Amino acid sequence: MSVINFSAGPAKLPKAVLETAQSEMLNYNNTGLSVMELSHRSADFTKIITGAEKNLRELLDIPENYKVLFKQGGGTGQFSAVPLNLMGLKPGRCADYIVTGSWSAKAVQEAEKYGKVNKVVPKLSKYSGIPDVDQWTLNPEASYVYYCANETIHGVEFPYIPETNGVPLVCDMSSNMLSRPVDVSKFGVIFAGAQKNMGCAGVTIVIIREDLLGKADPQCPVTYDYKVQAGNNSLYNTAPTYNIYILGLVLQWVKEQGGVKKMSENADLKSKAVYEVVDNSNGFYNATVEPCSRSRMNVPFRIGSKEGNETLENLFLEEAKQNGMIQLKGHRSVGGIRASLYNALSVDEARAFVQFLKDFQAKHQ
Ligand code: PMP
Repeated sequence: MSVINFSAGPAKLPKAVLETAQSEMLNYNNTGLSVMELSHRSADFTKIITGAEKNLRELLDIPENYKVLFKQGGGTGQFSAVPLNLMGLKPGRCADYIVTGSWSAKAVQEAEKYGKVNKVVPKLSKYSGIPDVDQWTLNPEASYVYYCANETIHGVEFPYIPETNGVPLVCDMSSNMLSRPVDVSKFGVIFAGAQKNMGCAGVTIVIIREDLLGKADPQCPVTYDYKVQAGNNSLYNTAPTYNIYILGLVLQWVKEQGGVKKMSENADLKSKAVYEVVDNSNGFYNATVEPCSRSRMNVPFRIGSKEGNETLENLFLEEAKQNGMIQLKGHRSVGGIRASLYNALSVDEARAFVQFLKDFQAKHQ
């Protein structure tokens, strides 16, 4: 059965990656073992993890003064790891958080356990855009500034990197990592769960500038201590070996496709095509995000009216499913429709969705 998977995550993986994993499942590199059965300290696994790091460094052009960690605990684990490692950078134990959606709001809840949080942007009644920089209140004494580059639920994506005037910048890139080139040197820490653009759930990438290591609070669990993990090449304890293997295959695939530049071009093509139909539908489809901060990865919209006609939306989901297009339901907290267009979703698959959008409107408006 052939389907097009628009899930927000865990998300579609490239077919070629799954096929390689399948062919190597029972006998990896003539070891007679599956990758799952390899020791995390074996020569074969060492090759897998160093190869993944090398490819990630190459794809994102990561400067040498940054460490790359492969961690468990998901993006949510990093909501705690970030303040546990960085809140104490300055004596005031205060951090700036730019809240533009549910994920950055959740990160605040965690950070408040470890220090003071200054909310940089005015509280928003709904998450549909990014307030102008002239409305921000950055605290020059903050230990770090935190933001989420792409709010997966609301489809709000930063089209720029915030300026922090020297305060370390921390970014949750869970849902747009590898979708565009990034100037890593602008960041103190970047983290991202793998299960959207990079692999399967269970491994989280952390990219951290070396001078920020060794500042963790004494009560920081060892598994989240960036310095300990960096000092042990992510192998202080057993790493999520199979997930790192899949991540490595995805990174190789991205390289073969033409790297993040190509992923970015595709993301433009796919998201523009979908937004164009939505915007030209005379109010049949209604985008929920302001044009200047629309995500290229997650496109949320309502059908029938701005608030959404649930009957029509359910019908849309049903007919989409009949056409092999699945996992289009908006997040349970916001409703509506959300089409996630991650790297593994091809331009042709996005075009098929665009055609479906047109056909559905023609049939039901
Ligand atoms: N940040 C973002 C932007 C996310 O989309 C998600 C999960 N969807 C998280 C953090 C939380 O990640 P996890 O579920 O891996 O803890």
